[in-house]
Amino acid sequence: MPADEKITITVISPHRDDAALALGLAIERWTSDGVHVQILTCFTISDFAPFADARTAHEVTRLRQQEDQHWLNRLGATVSMIDLGGIDAPLRVDVRRDRPTVDRPLGPRDHEAMQQLTAQLTALQTDGLVIAPLAISRHVDHRIARDAALQVCDPQRLAFFEDVPYASLDPSNDLAGVVSEVQAKLGRRISPVSVTRNPSPADKRRLIDVYRSQFTSDQLDRIAASAADGERLWAVAGGALHTARYRRKCAALCGSDK
Ligand SMILES: [Zn+2]
Repeated sequence: MPADEKITITVISPHRDDAALALGLAIERWTSDGVHVQILTCFTISDFAPFADARTAHEVTRLRQQEDQHWLNRLGATVSMIDLGGIDAPLRVDVRRDRPTVDRPLGPRDHEAMQQLTAQLTALQTDGLVIAPLAISRHVDHRIARDAALQVCDPQRLAFFEDVPYASLDPSNDLAGVVSEVQAKLGRRISPVSVTRNPSPADKRRLIDVYRSQFTSDQLDRIAASAADGERLWAVAGGALHTARYRRKCAALCGSDK
């Protein structure tokens, strides 16, 4: 592949599992197609592992790192993951552990986390397409990750993934409302682009099986089943995702706009 064809995709993953849950099939195709995929994982210090024996933050943080590593091992050398070392919401602030998230105004420690993440994203000087969460369900960590990306990145280089499992398992999710919120912040309209062709729920199930500290087997089955509809990004018209360079490289994986 000529050097000028080499493209980079950066995925901003709020937590250890978000990139794989939302874009596992697409990332697998991108990497096998020679795209350099970089995953920036934001809030990696965690004591949230409801389906594991690990209890302390040290144990859980290590376990979740191992889960991500098992996923990365399947993807090969074209993926790099950077641990940004943020403290996730249940440890950072006084929130309900089962739902530390929804429509909660940002507090002082959230603003500190946002400033830290914004500085980290600025220092990393990401190249190419940057994919941030839409923050469906309005999880506070996902909103911080999204809004930091909005502060740092040119809207032309940004795309947004549909957060899983919220997009697929939560019937009360407000996709339209979140899209409107992002459009207001961007001052531009965004539209969905499918990034998986002939998506296989069985393949998705195999990929996400590593995240057993976070989900029951039944939940993983349901998340994988929802992959039958494909994985989608949302992006501005005329942005990086729509340029010939990306479309050419992603032709095997990007479906037509819906
Ligand atoms: Zn998350």
